Amino acid sequence: MFKKILVANRGEIALRIQRACRELGIKAVMVYSEADRDAKYIKLAEEAVCIGPPPSAQSYLNMPAIISAAEVTDAEAIHPGYGFLSENADFAERVEKSGFQFIGPTPESIRMMGDKVAAKQAMIKAGVPCVPGSEGELPDDPVQVRRIARTVGYPVIIKAAGGGGGRGMRVVHTEAALVNAVAMTRAEAGAAFGNPAVYLEKFLQNPRHIEIQVLADKFKNAVYLGERDCSMQRRHQKIIEEAPAPGIARKLIERLGERCATACKKIGYRGAGTFEFLYEDGEFYFIEMNTRVQVEHPVTEMITGIDIVKTQIMVAAGEKLPFTQRQVQIHGCAIECRLNAEDPYRFVPSPGRVSMWHAPGGPGVRVDSHVYTNYTVPSNYDSMIGKIVVYGDNREQALARMTTALGETVVEGIKTNIALHRELMVDAKFMAGGTNIHYLEEWLSNHPR
Ligand code: ADP
Repeated sequence: MFKKILVANRGEIALRIQRACRELGIKAVMVYSEADRDAKYIKLAEEAVCIGPPPSAQSYLNMPAIISAAEVTDAEAIHPGYGFLSENADFAERVEKSGFQFIGPTPESIRMMGDKVAAKQAMIKAGVPCVPGSEGELPDDPVQVRRIARTVGYPVIIKAAGGGGGRGMRVVHTEAALVNAVAMTRAEAGAAFGNPAVYLEKFLQNPRHIEIQVLADKFKNAVYLGERDCSMQRRHQKIIEEAPAPGIARKLIERLGERCATACKKIGYRGAGTFEFLYEDGEFYFIEMNTRVQVEHPVTEMITGIDIVKTQIMVAAGEKLPFTQRQVQIHGCAIECRLNAEDPYRFVPSPGRVSMWHAPGGPGVRVDSHVYTNYTVPSNYDSMIGKIVVYGDNREQALARMTTALGETVVEGIKTNIALHRELMVDAKFMAGGTNIHYLEEWLSNHPR
């Protein structure tokens, strides 16, 4: 096992990784930008290195600064967390070339999954169900493009092979609009992602977002840890996640999960990963794979009792997965609410000093947050300041516990989205379960302030 790991991230996930290291008896070297000097996990750290000024480009995205921090502190491995450099294949490669273990998949796996056309082709080959669409990149010839779209059937969505973060996509409803839409998406993709390749898929009208968590080791052992339902989104940003997904037959999930685990073995995947699917009319359609730990990993930890971050570290150190698929047992239900420093209805970020912070507690309540009273939320980064996660024997109990937990939470000095979460937890349709990816935006337009 490693003796020392460098944590190349900030905020709640930096604290989460620090906690996992403590449990494993590993020293965690923390890095920070000048804006994060006063973070809780920096004060708790045995070792911390400043890697630059507040802007991410000069700190958390600064590869030479992060690698030299690992060199001067004699770390053996680097955990990238999520966001920042976590899905950057060049970074993973530089980490390994500099003699450190990257806590994640190989650079080749990251590169393949970062190219959505290549990822989709690999998934089709591995037997994972995908959205019907063009076989690979769209050709230049407009006649061929029209033929492909007609075969798939309208509406279709044009997507950039190199896209991410909900950008580089365009929905097309009629043939008249097709060729121009392809040209525009191509131009945008070239400018934004440095890769003008686009592909085409059937546009699903009312899907749910269902994802499968996997863990794999270097010995081609791979397991799935059930699913998460992340359909409560605004502008493709998830705000509430839960596990298991309400109302989907276990048999369907098991079949899908097995295919994901098999795909991991086929592509030589190692570490933690997530297969994201759209689910409509009883069918799953692969959209992308995330090659890192995700924000919403705690709901899976709550229903399986498996520590995903610790397992990531163990398999990166060359250990075998400590459990088999049969040993993965799912119990109860977990829900996560992301706490954002923002206006709950206008969504304008609200950084600044937190004059009062009181976290909830009680049975089945977990709070992952680096915030404390008098902490200042910097304006330079994402507005997420923590996550409240609850566990219940069933969904009703989890919903009740979340309502209680949100009621106990006190955050003063900045605005947060707690009020929105409180309303959603008692919304009849959300309580019934199974809302689709448009539900939250529809709810917001039906509840104007
Ligand atoms: P990104 O990497 O930018 O997040 P994804 O491929 O994961 O891109 O898609 C992001 C979101 O776009 C999905 O969660 C879904 O809301 C929408 N989307 C993508 N593909 C389709 C599709 N074929 N039909 C309907 N919606 C889609």
